[in-house]
Amino acid sequence: MSKPNIVVLGTGMAGFGAAHRLHAEGLPPVMYDKNSYYGGHTASFRFDTGFLFDLGPHISFTKDARIQALFADSVDQRFETIQINLNNYWRGFWPQHPVQLHLRGMPDELIVKVISDFVEERSAPERPIKNYADWLLASFGRTFAESFPMQYTRKYHLTPAENLSTDWLGPRIYRPSLEEVLRGAISPTAPQVHYITH
Ligand SMILES: Cc1cc2nc3c(=O)[nH]c(=O)nc-3n(C[C@H](O)[C@H](O)[C@H](O)COP(=O)(O)OP(=O)(O)OC[C@H]3O[C@@H](n4cnc5c(N)ncnc54)[C@H](O)[C@@H]3O)c2cc1C
Repeated sequence: MSKPNIVVLGTGMAGFGAAHRLHAEGLPPVMYDKNSYYGGHTASFRFDTGFLFDLGPHISFTKDARIQALFADSVDQRFETIQINLNNYWRGFWPQHPVQLHLRGMPDELIVKVISDFVEERSAPERPIKNYADWLLASFGRTFAESFPMQYTRKYHLTPAENLSTDWLGPRIYRPSLEEVLRGAISPTAPQVHYITH
């Protein structure tokens, strides 16, 4: 039986992932892209001034050793591993990430409102979670949800949290206990809980 001819549409990470697997199966595909360059969001453009503009990904957070090795091979082992130290900028303040665990140093008025809303929300009857906005309100209370993640969502996803589902959340957004919020508001050494470490 002759081998099938396989075409992969799109040359981003998904297309190259498929092609890599097909090669391993002895079925090298033909790849097409609607752009005049390959790589999808992984493409980078170098300008005459020497500036390199990455269209999308230039860092990987994967903990999967097989994928790490694949990425390392694809850049001839030329990469750096760095420990992540994430900060946020909010109205002249630089709270550590995630802010829900690092309220210390923020304006007193804000801390008090965040904590009282958080407590109120935890004792409220459970409501159905229809979208990301519902999830944020139920997880953090109104003041925190509206001051931080909802603002970020508008900037990053270009749409209000009401328009997003919750199936993408996974470990991305940490849902703290009251004790953790309180500790983060008074102690300079809140735990590192972010899912990205390096
Ligand atoms: C600004 C930015 C920064 C990011 N930074 C990171 C990061 O640091 N680390 C990280 O892990 N992720 C990052 N991401 C997410 C990452 O870019 C995506 O998850 C990933 O690139 C998606 O890969 P993909 O192959 O699904 O899509 P894409 O990379 O978008 O590839 C899709 C390809 O399909 C082509 N195509 C579409 N329709 C057709 C068609 N009909 N026929 C032929 N070709 C077609 C497109 O031209 C494109 O080349 C970032 C994203 C953005 C936007």
